[in-house]
Amino acid sequence: MKFISTRGGVAPVQMREALEAGLAPDGGLFIPESFPVFSPYDFKDLKTLPEIAASVLKPFFLEDEVLSKKLSEICENSFNFPIPLTKVPGSNLDYILELYHGPTSAFKDVGAQFLANCISALGDSSPKTVLVATSGDTGGAVAAAFFKKPSIEVMILYPKGKISPRQEKQLCAWGENVKAFGVEGTFDDCQRIVKEALLDQESKRKFISANSINLGRILPQMIYYIYASLLLQDQKNSPGFIIPSGNLGNSLACIWAKRLGFRIGPIFLALNANRGVVDYMKTGELSSNPTIATLANAMDVSKPSNLERMVSMMPDQAESVSDPEIENEIRVSESRWGQAFCPHTATAGVVRSHLKDQKDQAWVLVSTAHPAKFETIVEPLVGHAIELPPALEAILKKPSRVETIQATYEALKGKFKG
Ligand SMILES: *Cc1c(COP(=O)(O)O)cnc(C)c1O
Repeated sequence: MKFISTRGGVAPVQMREALEAGLAPDGGLFIPESFPVFSPYDFKDLKTLPEIAASVLKPFFLEDEVLSKKLSEICENSFNFPIPLTKVPGSNLDYILELYHGPTSAFKDVGAQFLANCISALGDSSPKTVLVATSGDTGGAVAAAFFKKPSIEVMILYPKGKISPRQEKQLCAWGENVKAFGVEGTFDDCQRIVKEALLDQESKRKFISANSINLGRILPQMIYYIYASLLLQDQKNSPGFIIPSGNLGNSLACIWAKRLGFRIGPIFLALNANRGVVDYMKTGELSSNPTIATLANAMDVSKPSNLERMVSMMPDQAESVSDPEIENEIRVSESRWGQAFCPHTATAGVVRSHLKDQKDQAWVLVSTAHPAKFETIVEPLVGHAIELPPALEAILKKPSRVETIQATYEALKGKFKG
């Protein structure tokens, strides 16, 4: 399989090139040239996430000699934490897909681990620099995934003073090959610096962007939808999924998984007050509204970067959820869903509560992060402390290492090794 650009301006590329480039040279995003079709019945004997992953991803990696040989090992090392599908106590056919049991307690761990293991498996003698601009969960997941990977240097840029102390800790707790930079500027400044680096023709460094448009982060995300679909295989109707969404990487993966032939029913997107996708689905145009800060801040996106990949296969429905609705959902989440929700997951809860129960229709709420990541929002609403997952607790105990830099590419350049 080769990969083409959404803008059609480049010849099909190999997997390696798609992973290392991030963005296609014509400014588009890489998508698979075609989608293989599977029969869910062929998966009867495959039970674990790594087994399912290796089998589903095989055709995508077929033409890459290095990666296809190592694919099983990459899947073993990436899907090395549980992704439980739990039935909501007392409910008819509601399930929660818990994507928050990885090292940084959010679903971005899945894509980041897989990408890191692929880049690492590509080996190569020349050292590589992974760059990531982050306003929250991405940077921590990428840092954890690339930590101690040989010959790979990671540089994380975040807007200094503009993220929560616990988020900051997850970026700065690493050291060794992972460097965190607090940029005197905004998230947009961080993104601009990364872009300048990627476009720097003179630099002899090999830069890799680990932001969420990277195909190596999207493809593995299909696996947990397929896993849930296989677990619910005996249901009369294909299960529907409700997905908290911002840049649309997570929901795109669900749409692709359905395209591969797995039993996936309606796909509903839950958005926060940044309702661009809702309007786009009504009018066919993306409004130019500015980004609004909400309680579900990892979804504060007004121009979702993956929309370009989605246009030819949109989800079934999208709904925008307000901050007061999110607050209320968190307040009732423990009694209604059997667990306290993070603000992102709460948007899915709100969307579910607007749907009527239908006989034979299962709904899977996609839980994107652990509530302990957003304790300042969740704890006052549920009225008690949220216990930290052990991995997160370990990170929070480490010392912080961070440098402050001006918001220019020149300032970052001064920090490169060698
Ligand atoms: C990134 C993130 C989202 C949004 O995911 P997209 O792939 O950008 O749509 C939702 N919830 C959490 C907790 C996140 O970190």
